[in-house]
Amino acid sequence: MSALLNAPQREAIRYLDGPSLVLAGAGSGKTRVITHKIAHLINECGLNPSNIAAITFTNKAAKEMQERVAGLMGGRAPGGLTVCTFHALGVRMIRQEAAHCGLKPQFSILDASDTVQIVSDISRDTDKARAKAMQWQISGWKNAMVTPEQAAQLADDEVSSAAAMLYAEYERTLRAYQGVDFDDLISLPVRLLEENPDVRERWQNKLRYLLVDEYQDTNKAQYRLLRQLAGVRGAFTAVGDDDQAIYAWRGADVENLKLLQQDYPKLKVIKLEQNYRSSRRILTAANTVIANNEKLFEKRLWSEHGDGEQIAVTACRDADHEAEWVASKISAHKFEHRTKFSDYAVLYRGNHQARVIEQQLRNQKIPYVMSGGQSFFDKAEIRDLMSWLRLLMNEDDDLAFIRAITTPRRGVGAATIEALGNYAGRRHVSLFAAVFEEGAAHALNARQLEQLQEFGNFVNRIQYRAHREPAARVLEDLLAAIRYEAWLFEHLDTREAESKWSNVRDFVNWLGRKGEADGKNLVELTQTIALISMLDKDDAEFDGVQLATLHASKGLEFKHVFLVGVEEGLLPHQSSIDEDKVDEERRLMYVGITRAQRSLNITWCERRKAGKETRTCEPSRFIAEMGGDIKMSDRKTNAPVSKEEGRARIANLMAMLEGR
Ligand code: ATP
Ligand code: MG
Repeated sequence: MSALLNAPQREAIRYLDGPSLVLAGAGSGKTRVITHKIAHLINECGLNPSNIAAITFTNKAAKEMQERVAGLMGGRAPGGLTVCTFHALGVRMIRQEAAHCGLKPQFSILDASDTVQIVSDISRDTDKARAKAMQWQISGWKNAMVTPEQAAQLADDEVSSAAAMLYAEYERTLRAYQGVDFDDLISLPVRLLEENPDVRERWQNKLRYLLVDEYQDTNKAQYRLLRQLAGVRGAFTAVGDDDQAIYAWRGADVENLKLLQQDYPKLKVIKLEQNYRSSRRILTAANTVIANNEKLFEKRLWSEHGDGEQIAVTACRDADHEAEWVASKISAHKFEHRTKFSDYAVLYRGNHQARVIEQQLRNQKIPYVMSGGQSFFDKAEIRDLMSWLRLLMNEDDDLAFIRAITTPRRGVGAATIEALGNYAGRRHVSLFAAVFEEGAAHALNARQLEQLQEFGNFVNRIQYRAHREPAARVLEDLLAAIRYEAWLFEHLDTREAESKWSNVRDFVNWLGRKGEADGKNLVELTQTIALISMLDKDDAEFDGVQLATLHASKGLEFKHVFLVGVEEGLLPHQSSIDEDKVDEERRLMYVGITRAQRSLNITWCERRKAGKETRTCEPSRFIAEMGGDIKMSDRKTNAPVSKEEGRARIANLMAMLEGR
């Protein structure tokens, strides 16, 4: 076992007598416990790698964990070892047990915009905001493992009964498409294991030891999945930090930490107290901020690192100035300290803040990588291709069918699709299957039928090749056959078409590489892609500044961090202030501060555009909460503020906040 482990870490790694929970603050080496424990289980305990599963929160974290384990095992990740997200594990379970779930193994994974589309289709309501709200409600039910029948029973007024009915219809539609949504990736495996003792036993025997990172952010369904897999043996190690629980809005429940103690009375709780990540000033600021929250568990956190640089807080005029300042500062700092771009991260509360930062970085020729933003896979052109891929994998995916047959439009009009839809609905078959049914001849005219069958035959031909030939080649030929590039240039202006076509090229190349690396064909790749976000693009060797939302930065660390937009109304977010949920925002601030190893720069804007309006802003209360050991400066004059002035400003801030 490596010498670079402290006593409680070693204890956590060696403890195998029952369930254990490592509860500790940021940067204390929780994730390190997991990676070392995997190596320990394999090297010292002789466990087969394929009997171990480590579950993390994001794809990026999973990838990093795989690399760390490989590092510990002589450079290569042990074959058969599972290191993935809850969702990826869910996909694997459903695929292997598809028949038990009423699905075929080639089911489609529908994303957020597909599911909102389904809700608006079945409710016949074109208002996107309402459909989104409704989908959100359904997702909440699914995360809490509430079935449509239970939702109907619980409903106590007309609105909620109608919502429950919609939920039932939504579930039927998904199954008709042979599709699952993201929530199903957890709830279906839970049902599968809860309802089928033999399947449960099989999975418990397969995954004999479980390790869960970021446990504080699991929701009810994920917890139940963990319980089912761990069984009574409780062979697992969970690690987490209640102060970093930032997913309550998605149904995560910190109470799961307490539940673990209740459900496993023998749970061994181990605490880590030494932080190895940050300099002392950064750690003190983080501790001071989080001390304002009510404590769930008593924890301590200290560091042997030196004091480090002072945290700098800079007031900017507006978001443009802020972005410009951050970009210049990175340039100058990099030049002075001979660092790499990837040593820097710019973190923000909301995706909308990224645009100006991207612009300024581009202006100043600074390379960057963005994660957790609008996903590459949300772009219209990539979604077009994805529909094609989904259709090749699963012809029953009606959403994919409609998108593919209309992109590019191939003379098949809305009337034809509607007639086909009516026929398929009566026959209870998918659109694709309907095309080849004999009865279709009565529902459609000869010309329509011919067009549809031509399309169907084309799909069949490509599908045949997709199962056999390298992914990139099939995709290239598909693009050529549907004349996708020409179509882009026909209906868009040149610049837009060029940008979209270049994204398509990126996608094809990336998919080709991935197919080769994983030895998978196009059809096999499709389900994996559905789970991937931009996080997974091959950015390992790319030297760029990291841009991420605070949520997406969880678990990561960077030498130099810029935390931007630290204003009242943005961090904490206005809706959280209104709903009295500032505690969760404070945890978000804590996550942000604790990502930094050496330096932390905080900025806030005096004015910020919100829609068409521009409003005046005040610095976030969290700045005042960091304590006095910070350097205040003013972007407008660019001059550092004197110590006295700095103190006076903080005093003002405190007074202002108290008067709130
Ligand atoms: P977070 O709560 O942010 O997820 P964490 O508790 O998972 O943090 P790690 O990411 O595992 O913390 O560790 C933080 C840093 O400290 C890493 O760079 C890790 O390599 C280093 N580290 C952890 N334990 C030790 C140790 N015993 N000796 C030296 N370095 C350590
Ligand atoms: Mg971690």
